[in-house]
Amino acid sequence: MSSRMTGSFQLMKSLNRSLILNTIRVNGAISRSEIAKKTKLTPPTVTNIVNELIKADLVLESRAGTSNGGRKPILLTINSNSRYIIGVDVGVKKVRLALTNLNADILKRKLVKMPDRDTLTEGSFLQFLQDIVLSFLEEVEEAKDKLIGLGVAMHGIVDHEAGTAVHAPTLKLENVPVKQVLEDHFNLPVRVENDAKALALGEKWFGAGKETDHFVCLNVGEGIGSGIILHDELFHGSDDLAGEIGHTLIDLNGPLCSCGNKGCFQMLASGHALKERARERLKEDRETLLKERAGNDLEELDGQLIYECAKDGDAVAAEILRETGEYLGIGLLNIIHFLNPRMIIVGGGVSKAGSFLMDPVHKVIKTSALSKRARNTCIVLSELDEEGSLIGACTLVLSELFSHEHSE
Ligand SMILES: [Zn+2]
Repeated sequence: MSSRMTGSFQLMKSLNRSLILNTIRVNGAISRSEIAKKTKLTPPTVTNIVNELIKADLVLESRAGTSNGGRKPILLTINSNSRYIIGVDVGVKKVRLALTNLNADILKRKLVKMPDRDTLTEGSFLQFLQDIVLSFLEEVEEAKDKLIGLGVAMHGIVDHEAGTAVHAPTLKLENVPVKQVLEDHFNLPVRVENDAKALALGEKWFGAGKETDHFVCLNVGEGIGSGIILHDELFHGSDDLAGEIGHTLIDLNGPLCSCGNKGCFQMLASGHALKERARERLKEDRETLLKERAGNDLEELDGQLIYECAKDGDAVAAEILRETGEYLGIGLLNIIHFLNPRMIIVGGGVSKAGSFLMDPVHKVIKTSALSKRARNTCIVLSELDEEGSLIGACTLVLSELFSHEHSE
């Protein structure tokens, strides 16, 4: 891959080009004169830049617009399939890869198992990442010349400017220079972000948060992470720690967390918490489908199984989901009182437990939030589902391409 590609990314990133591109993207289809009105650029500037964008194949012209009696205006749209992005979502157990177009439509996907955590080092992890991206690139050979960047969503704390995975406790990795190594190796712009933050960005661009300026997106899987969107932008805090809601303490005597503290929110309200509660319940002498279906294999006892037992009328399973939902509700209540977002989006595996889990969440908020409007805070489930962080990873590259604020 060449500097040509990096060059094409730079070409698109000048201030006015990005501004015009984004105006076309946001409006779907728009005429040159409307662009001039909205951007306050002069019509000749708009015409010049639009011509460049058409020449670069990034923008298409069509005459499908509505006319006011006269000639139909020529409308401009983004040529979504003119460029591609590779997204990588690095989870604890598996890595998802995808090739998308400029509309984040997934054109090809791949799932790879993570190497054994116990033998993983910073070096072997980077080598693994390079290998899987390389093999994916070989599979999408025909798209290579149109690639404009690589976005990586990572578990743990990520320095998003340096593109370094600073602290990934579950993988036991520290200070991994993901961006630097992948950029050197593939000669493509690389953006790296925490997975929950990437998910929030994906929801902002393509999911449930499209129309909302302030929201929090909670990723409830084995752990709990979150991304905060303020004034339409991701909020990182001073050291990329903002959103680490999973490690806020809510029970000083609670279970020990991977971070070393006791009673973290994620130890009480995540998929992990569901499993631990189920294991405790199995020690009691109560009749439950959980015992029957999981048998002696405690690994089988996951959120999905608990949900299915509850759906089939099992009281113990329903109780486990209710208790976990109450803790989840407390976490959401804290977010509401602390940040007062317009909306909270809940994603991740746990969100699939439906009303067993979400009814108690709503109940906590309805009974304990301080004001009427806070009690009515909109709580919705993620629209992007399990590929949300992956779409978010691609959005990291897209947001740079279309963002006129950060362009040179
Ligand atoms: Zn913790």
